[in-house]
Amino acid sequence: MNIIRKKKSTLMIVILLLLSVMLPSQVFAASYKDLPKKVGIASDKVWNIKFNEDINKDTVNSSSIAVLDSNNKEIPVKVTYIDSRTVAVAPVTKYEEGQTYSLVVKDTLKGKSGNKIKAPARMEFTIENKVVKPTSPKGYIIALDAGRAGNDIGSEIGQAGVKGKDVNLQVALKAGKILEQNGVSVVYTRTGDNVSWSKEDSVAARSKIVNDAKANLLISIHCNSYSSSTAAGTETYYLSGNQESKKLASYIQNQLPAKTGLYNRGIVESSLKTLSSVNATGVYVALGFLTNPKEEQILDSEEYKNNSAEAIANAVLNYLDIKMQTYIKDIQDISVILYKGEKYTLPTTVTAVMSDNTDSKVSVKWDKTSVDTSKEGTFNYKGTVASYSESVNLKVKVISDSSFNEGSIGKVFIDSAGASNTIDLTDPAAVKSKDINLAIGLKVGKILEDKGINVAYSRKTDSVSWSKDKDIDERVKLANASGAELLVRIQMNSYTSQATKGIETYYKTGDDIGKAFAENVQSNLITYTSGVNRGVKTKVFNILDAFNGTGIVVYPGFITNPDEEALLKTSEYQDKIAKAIASSILEGYNSSNETIKDVKDVSVKVNQGEKYSLPTKVAALTNEGKTVQKDVIWETDSVDTSKAGTITIKGRVKNYDKLITLSLIVSSKNATNYKVAIDAGHGGYDSGAVGPNGTKEKDVTLAVALKLGDILVKNGVNVVFTRTSDNVPWPNNKNEELQMRCDIANEANVDFFVSIHTNSIDGSPTTSGTETYYDRDSTKGIPLATNIQEELVSELNSKDRGIKGSGLYVVKYTDAPAVLVELDFISNPDKEKLMNNSDYQQKYAEAIARGILKTLE
Ligand SMILES: [Zn+2]
Repeated sequence: MNIIRKKKSTLMIVILLLLSVMLPSQVFAASYKDLPKKVGIASDKVWNIKFNEDINKDTVNSSSIAVLDSNNKEIPVKVTYIDSRTVAVAPVTKYEEGQTYSLVVKDTLKGKSGNKIKAPARMEFTIENKVVKPTSPKGYIIALDAGRAGNDIGSEIGQAGVKGKDVNLQVALKAGKILEQNGVSVVYTRTGDNVSWSKEDSVAARSKIVNDAKANLLISIHCNSYSSSTAAGTETYYLSGNQESKKLASYIQNQLPAKTGLYNRGIVESSLKTLSSVNATGVYVALGFLTNPKEEQILDSEEYKNNSAEAIANAVLNYLDIKMQTYIKDIQDISVILYKGEKYTLPTTVTAVMSDNTDSKVSVKWDKTSVDTSKEGTFNYKGTVASYSESVNLKVKVISDSSFNEGSIGKVFIDSAGASNTIDLTDPAAVKSKDINLAIGLKVGKILEDKGINVAYSRKTDSVSWSKDKDIDERVKLANASGAELLVRIQMNSYTSQATKGIETYYKTGDDIGKAFAENVQSNLITYTSGVNRGVKTKVFNILDAFNGTGIVVYPGFITNPDEEALLKTSEYQDKIAKAIASSILEGYNSSNETIKDVKDVSVKVNQGEKYSLPTKVAALTNEGKTVQKDVIWETDSVDTSKAGTITIKGRVKNYDKLITLSLIVSSKNATNYKVAIDAGHGGYDSGAVGPNGTKEKDVTLAVALKLGDILVKNGVNVVFTRTSDNVPWPNNKNEELQMRCDIANEANVDFFVSIHTNSIDGSPTTSGTETYYDRDSTKGIPLATNIQEELVSELNSKDRGIKGSGLYVVKYTDAPAVLVELDFISNPDKEKLMNNSDYQQKYAEAIARGILKTLE
């Protein structure tokens, strides 16, 4: 009796535990006194229960003290009486990781004097989910929780209506795909906007998914909001008192601002329910502020979603100590043009852009198995690629002869040389050539317009809006913006000798179609004027080179010759010239069913963000040698110029079996004034060296050249290609060919010239290595050669054969510092295989680009 000192003569159970996070208590059987839940408990935890009064040893057993699993079933435990006030409870086998148990002290446990416990006690505890290193990444389970959903928008909405729930979901899905591609298992709390839980049950429902999946980590993804519209940046919340959560948050916050460029608000301690109610190590990522209009726009962008997903995935992998593998970043949509009835098999692979910017062929599964080409129209297919979150789009355009709008009105661009502000050629009698050029240009235009052809002009008056030094650039810009397929420049000739006279017409070197057009115009000019025929000539012309279509330059006479000058200034003579030119053009538009021998590939340069319309007609050469304008159907109707780089579009022309190519160079908004000529070695009639397995040097050099151009353009460098396809612009003559490569670079006044080749040696299939040549008579090519050689050798780990002075034609006769790169030996079957690989071609291109950029700095 004297034992009882307290007013309440019952035993008070006190369970002594480590101090831990305060968590909301769970609801248990009403008859039990609930003690605060404990988390992060070791799987071999021995509970020491301390009592405030002496207990009866005989009542200490596994029926008075028990441990229940989450189904309220007792599990075997060892209950040990330590002393009169202490009992130890140990599991017989280890507790299961991530599981929640209840430790229960029943009222069958009695005090020494026989008194009972007034209220039996119950305490929940959850065993920690240790991130033990699995043998493979597959062992890790990462839960991605896209915040909000359905009508639960909360404060995650911006002024422009961007909703956090959408941004969160896309970032979660993108991050998940990257993680999956790195072999980690991913579980999502949601993969769409429709969810099964109510707004109020959201945290509990999401936590259940995470706990049921036994996830190791939880990344809850959200957008931030604040009452002030200027709050900005990313921050990551961790669970108070949880070191692992803090560590993971730091990893994420290390990556996110750096990858996205958003302000770094750091990591923040929190007791968010989202984090405290899961067994996983969790963090809550706030991507940025939707309440900040600038940030709202950023959060809505594809680029931001990609970057933040990459940052999160990268941080998770870093935390787990897994090295990030390359993954699929993007797969370009595909489109094809087919003739009605043409047989077509859906591709089994598509080219993916990998996270390291290399290309890789990946398997694709389409939503339909075959393509029906019996009907005209545009048909869309969706493809699925394993571990890539988006679908691949394939557009099939089925056309027929009637798809071509034969006889549609074309457009001609007339360029009258000179203007009030340009240097003008004057003659003995002070007649200004710019005035004659303009008069003839307007007359040609008038005739064409009367026949229903659209005409655009570089100028219709004497005064122009551009400065003298921008003269050619501005004319080219106007010509290309006009969408014209044909350009005629009219220019007076001049010479130091007054006796020199006659008519001549120029075409761009290598342009067979332009040549035929020039021949036609020249022949008409002679017929109409009975003038002296100086013939058709060629050279590399800046204006013709930069023009998208086909063009010629007409020199109707010499202003320096007094007789011709007198003739040229008369309206009558100008009429004759105008009619001669116009009739040649009209012939090309009126022709309909000739057999087409050749169609010109189109090369176009536009500025990033500039609107560009695909040409509706292209110049073609008939079997009779006439230049005609043919309708063209492109695989796509519009071009996206929002990103810098090179784009290739295929097109079809009636009565012509081959596809034609339009190469579009979109120059960067931040373009520099640097200009580099890229020369893909060999081409056309000349295969170059051929590898033991048949790989042609000319194909490797072209592939590397085009990739190099793309990289340089993206880096703000202007690019001039000597060739962009196997359809080479030079005749089948080695000397003319090499000179023309130099001419293209010299005319364009480039800063550097880089010729790409592969080496070859007979009878020594193991020989390998990279070497770079410069002009032995000059030192100017040495820095470029050194930098390219260094980058190639280090990127590809190839044998360094060094830089070498040489008398090679292209390095010798190019004005700019010029180098010739031998990537490696195509005669070595191992190297040949690499050269055929698009990833490797990309590597060669990247290394060369780095060498160039380094030299430009
Ligand atoms: Zn070569």
